[in-house]
Amino acid sequence: MPRMEPFATSIFGEMSTIAAETGAINLGQGFPDTDGPDEIKMVARAAIAEGKGNQYPPVHGLPDLRAAIAEHQERFYGLRVDPATDVVVTTGASEAIQSALLALCDTGDEVVVFEPWFDIYAVGIALANATRVSVPLRPPAFRPDIDALRAAITDRTRLLLLNTPHNPTGVVFTPEELQAIADLAIERDLIVISDEAYEHLWYDGHPHVPIATLPGMAERTVTIGSAGKSFSFTGWKVGWATGPTDLIRAVRAVRQHLSFVSGGPFQYAIAHALRMPDSYFEDFRHGLQEQRDILTSGLRELGFHAVESEGTYFLTTDLGPLSDYPDALTAARELPHRAGVVAIPLQVFCDHAGVGERALRWAYCKRPEVLREALGRLTALA
Ligand SMILES: *Cc1c(COP(=O)(O)O)cnc(C)c1O
Repeated sequence: MPRMEPFATSIFGEMSTIAAETGAINLGQGFPDTDGPDEIKMVARAAIAEGKGNQYPPVHGLPDLRAAIAEHQERFYGLRVDPATDVVVTTGASEAIQSALLALCDTGDEVVVFEPWFDIYAVGIALANATRVSVPLRPPAFRPDIDALRAAITDRTRLLLLNTPHNPTGVVFTPEELQAIADLAIERDLIVISDEAYEHLWYDGHPHVPIATLPGMAERTVTIGSAGKSFSFTGWKVGWATGPTDLIRAVRAVRQHLSFVSGGPFQYAIAHALRMPDSYFEDFRHGLQEQRDILTSGLRELGFHAVESEGTYFLTTDLGPLSDYPDALTAARELPHRAGVVAIPLQVFCDHAGVGERALRWAYCKRPEVLREALGRLTALA
């Protein structure tokens, strides 16, 4: 199918292959090199041993996990959702996003998304036969441009696909930015899909605010979460969507025919995880914040201009000592050969010229010694 051809290869596949060939440290991959808490693993092990979840779990998710997701939304954000009708468990946040796109837009509908976007958004919009309309997060700070957003909305716009904390830039949208986006969504009667995979990964002074908490937004927003990101078990692929009954019913209708169900025993473990005390969530953030600080200050010392990462696993810089290369893609392809480190060029996640051509994404969800080793290698660029 021609419209899917562009997605046959991905930058992550290409850069991971180069990393393997060159023995480079892969700061391109967005997953932690340390697993989440043992107590969560123990619940999964016990579930398998006790025969819980080894056969198909209930189609929209284990009732106790749906209850735990609803409790989590209320505990952290004051959002009330009915676990019976307003929650669906998915195969990672990825399946939640793709089923929401397939369920909520029709051929020719326009989906507005901030760029650089997370790569699967482009795929999901194409699968739904909808049209992607990108609005730049403007470098060097990568803040959302509300005037550009307003200008991008047309009579064909159906849906706004939002992501905060934002991958790849590391920006966390402020309450003021979210309010301006919400005002437009209400004025133009748009549905919002809010990808909040990094909801627990925001750093001091930049708390995450779900857009569904703003007045008039809960009834038009599908909010998406990821246990992989919140508990450092990205291989388990447990995610969810919550929202108003009508939108979740539509998402369920599609999703049940994609993977049907997944992750039986892991669903028990994530129900436990979501109910862990605040100290877990705080320690997790603080640990990642330290890793962020190591990589940020190290890259700055090496001459990269780093945008402060307010959340996620990622940090965005300019090309720094690689500025002689014509663009970020060329620089990223050379970097493993020159310094034994992999980073991801942001331009492959952009439709507009001038947004990502001079920007690299570095993952700091790696052990401090790995980050220090990478920084040591990068001194070769001096
Ligand atoms: C990792 C990621 C996802 C996918 O999460 P899974 O739970 O692994 O499917 C979705 N959105 C963003 C922004 C991510 O970084």
